[in-house]
Amino acid sequence: MKFENNLLFSQNLDLADPLRTMRDDYLFPVLNNKPFIYLCGNSLGLQPKVAKEVLDVQLNNWQNLAVEGWFEGNSPWMFYHKELKKLMAPLVGAKVAEVCPMNTLTVNLHLLMVSFYQPNDKRFKIIMEAGAFPSDQYAIESQVRFHGYDPKEAIIEVKPRDGEYILRTEDILQVIEAKGDEIALVLFGGVNYFTGQWFDMPAITKAGHKAGALVGFDLAHAAGNVPLSLHDWDVDFACWCSYKYQNAGPGGIAGIFVHEKHFNDASLNRFAGWWGYNESNRFKMEKGFVPELGADGWQVSCTQVMPMALYHASLQLFDKVGYLTSLREKSKTLTEYLFYVIDEVNTNIGYEQFKIITPRGQADRGAQVSIIAKSHGKEFFDKLVENHVLGDWREPNVIRLSPVPMYNSFEDVYRTGALLLSLSKSIL
Ligand SMILES: *Cc1c(COP(=O)(O)O)cnc(C)c1O
Repeated sequence: MKFENNLLFSQNLDLADPLRTMRDDYLFPVLNNKPFIYLCGNSLGLQPKVAKEVLDVQLNNWQNLAVEGWFEGNSPWMFYHKELKKLMAPLVGAKVAEVCPMNTLTVNLHLLMVSFYQPNDKRFKIIMEAGAFPSDQYAIESQVRFHGYDPKEAIIEVKPRDGEYILRTEDILQVIEAKGDEIALVLFGGVNYFTGQWFDMPAITKAGHKAGALVGFDLAHAAGNVPLSLHDWDVDFACWCSYKYQNAGPGGIAGIFVHEKHFNDASLNRFAGWWGYNESNRFKMEKGFVPELGADGWQVSCTQVMPMALYHASLQLFDKVGYLTSLREKSKTLTEYLFYVIDEVNTNIGYEQFKIITPRGQADRGAQVSIIAKSHGKEFFDKLVENHVLGDWREPNVIRLSPVPMYNSFEDVYRTGALLLSLSKSIL
């Protein structure tokens, strides 16, 4: 599409956007009676208006049914996760039995590594991306140590080439192939939190399997952002949080995916708890753990009803828009428009003050644009916030802006570019 850098053009794109009314389903932060342009959905998604109502249903159940709520009422807590499973599966391209809401993300990463990282002296290495989210780095290091290996030897990080920010798929595949039978696990992010790069997940999965390793993904920045087909891609396991692109609230309940081919594999270790026990016999309280079939068998503690209600509220809105097909179409153009307005700002300044490090190709990114500010980065960021544009800041010089198709408009993007340009006149 041929873009134009003016308000009317952006407003016309909004008029033509079939999802333009979705933003009315969300609550925007407001300061001095003026709502923010919110470009931070990659970090914490906005609150769906329906969240209070859905949460209230469960608060009322607690009030009126108390302990009976586990088995009584319209939607007994004992089975509440099943309603979420149905809504979660299409977001990640899974069968319903392959997903389950539980715990929080890093906790799930640990639990899944207990099952899918079972190293031996021949195969004990893990391939991951350099610059992964710190929680993943710590989790992986500690798992490696737990098994008695040295992270320096066992963890192989694939790095961008000198002077580059983005990993080349060929380099990732080359490392996997080169390390071959030393690799126990390939564990990658879906979308890198810092650069916004969406990795070639099917190619990585295929290469990992060819090397004889298992392959898992942390989808914190991918789930709800880009279309995924975990089942068809033959991914072994994955986990994600619900509070970024999925708008389920701070510290929201997380999700796991386990491919069905692993459902009956008794050789997998598990850190078990009563809620993963076979559902129909769970309350017999018998000795000896028998897992429920499917991802549900990885549950440990009883259902977290209140966080689940918030995730439920948010998932209903994904259901309403027909999931990622329509969101993704808008997302491609909306993010492209942000690339364009940033380019326009640079052209007007006369040099590349804002260097975009996120890949521009549609297959290589979702709804996040990471920008290195050549100078005065923090000053620009603070002024953006002062002027009601909320993105996020990563030391030492990166501004991340995420135009989320669910609730951001083309006008939001236009206004952000216009503000950056006018700020540059006073700051630079
Ligand atoms: C956001 C994020 C996390 C956060 O983990 P929590 O356990 O939810 O605090 C972990 N990993 C990645 C890749 C993330 O982007």
